[in-house]
Amino acid sequence: MPDDKSPLDTRNPWVVDTRELGRRPGLSRDLRLSAPVRTELGVPGVIAVPKGSEIELDLLLESVVEGVLVTGTASAHTTGECSRCLDPIGGDVEIDLTELFAYPESTTEATTEEDEVSHLINDRIDLEPIVRDALVLALPQVPLCSEDCAGLCPECGGKWADLKPGHGHETIDPRWAALVERFDDAPAGGPDQEA
Ligand SMILES: [Zn+2]
Ligand SMILES: [Zn+2]
Repeated sequence: MPDDKSPLDTRNPWVVDTRELGRRPGLSRDLRLSAPVRTELGVPGVIAVPKGSEIELDLLLESVVEGVLVTGTASAHTTGECSRCLDPIGGDVEIDLTELFAYPESTTEATTEEDEVSHLINDRIDLEPIVRDALVLALPQVPLCSEDCAGLCPECGGKWADLKPGHGHETIDPRWAALVERFDDAPAGGPDQEA
């Protein structure tokens, strides 16, 4: 099979054949596809796009003098942990993409460093590296379950959202501690309902 020699295999869902687009500048084509995450993206346990999930791509491919310009959006689901209260959280991340894939013989190719520009290889483009790079940068550094998450009590580790109003840990004189404990054991309703 001639494809075996190609670094960009069209069986790879991230690889797009641009021949359909044509090379005349100005030609364009919409491209919607979803492609699988093959290696987890982000920081596992903190915030990540999990392996096996799908990334939705909504793109416009345009033929330009230098190559093929790809613009559009990519969106993915994220899983992680709130960095204040440690609750598991899920969310979505969406990024804007703008990437030029240069023709091998173009002047862009001749005037830029090897790694600075994406290339067409056999008229094909590989969307995976650019989407991965952009998504990783778009993940929140400090993921939160909500903007106003109060986090945890530093003394007992309880979630502020679950703790009683006025929750606190005043340092109690050991001589009073026993008395306080006896109050805590009192039946519900308090001392007014003593038998
Ligand atoms: Zn939280
Ligand atoms: Zn506490």
